[in-house]
Amino acid sequence: MPSPIDLHSHSTVSDGLLMPQALVEHAAAQGVKVLSLTDHDDTAGLAIAAKVAAEHGMQLVNGVEISVTWRRRTIHVVGLRIDPDHAPLRDGLEKIRAGRHVRAQGIAASLEKFGIAGSLEGAYAHASQGIISRAHFARYLIEQGYASNFKSLFKRYLVKGKPGYFEHHWATLEEAITWIAGSGGVAVLAHPGRYDIGRTNMLLLLEEFRNLGGTAIEVVTGSHTTDQFQEYAKLAHMFGFKASMGSDYHGPGGYLEMGRLPDLPRGCIPVWQDWPETQSLNNLR
Ligand code: AMP
Ligand code: MN
Ligand code: MN
Ligand code: MN
Repeated sequence: MPSPIDLHSHSTVSDGLLMPQALVEHAAAQGVKVLSLTDHDDTAGLAIAAKVAAEHGMQLVNGVEISVTWRRRTIHVVGLRIDPDHAPLRDGLEKIRAGRHVRAQGIAASLEKFGIAGSLEGAYAHASQGIISRAHFARYLIEQGYASNFKSLFKRYLVKGKPGYFEHHWATLEEAITWIAGSGGVAVLAHPGRYDIGRTNMLLLLEEFRNLGGTAIEVVTGSHTTDQFQEYAKLAHMFGFKASMGSDYHGPGGYLEMGRLPDLPRGCIPVWQDWPETQSLNNLR
């Protein structure tokens, strides 16, 4: 039976395709009972998502996915049960969003040098509500016929060494964890299996994450293979991290559907273990 818990998802506030209301309704239809909306660097969808969730008898966990630069690489830290009104978190996210606008201009300028004009306006046309992201550039460039799908578009245009790549510095790992923990939330290392950094650096990252106050990692995520579920369950155990799970749903078409994730591997301590939001589930099971 798929898990009724999904602690990682995106709406149109970041680079998802469904408005927060529609995202929550979709989650409900897929059998999700406890959902976290974790838009990139923006919490603007949480209030309406919580309202709609309540109407559907679901629990909405306030979340965010913070962009971080760690040793010149981009990693993501999910904050769960955050307080979006906590001033350092709110101000920190605002600064990241401002940086995204500057970076978008850099991406557009790089593409322009390569002979692709109009991408700034084109990308913003896809960014309806909140942050501007590479995903919006990707949607515009696909629309213009530069590739037929996201994966090949990113590979050919938006990653290091490609025409639309523009180096950017996000928050530090320490900032992200401090903002999240300071707001009363739990800092979760997102989809560790996606970082192509080798075993030694992964152990370093996990150690540093723990030393700075991180307490959980994603074990079951749409970004991991089933082998990686086991691999990161082991690492969570080794480092004393709790385990999180989430689809990282971005909308219909090409993304992993919600409500399809398996339970955490045996031996994992769920990050939601003593959350009030999951009490009704425990009673059902
Ligand atoms: P940004 O935070 O602006 O750098 O945008 C990153 C977003 O683009 C991620 O959150 C994903 O939604 C999407 N993305 C990044 N890399 C890929 C990829 N290789 N294939 C598909 N989507 C990607
Ligand atoms: Mn995304
Ligand atoms: Mn991510
Ligand atoms: Mn995500």
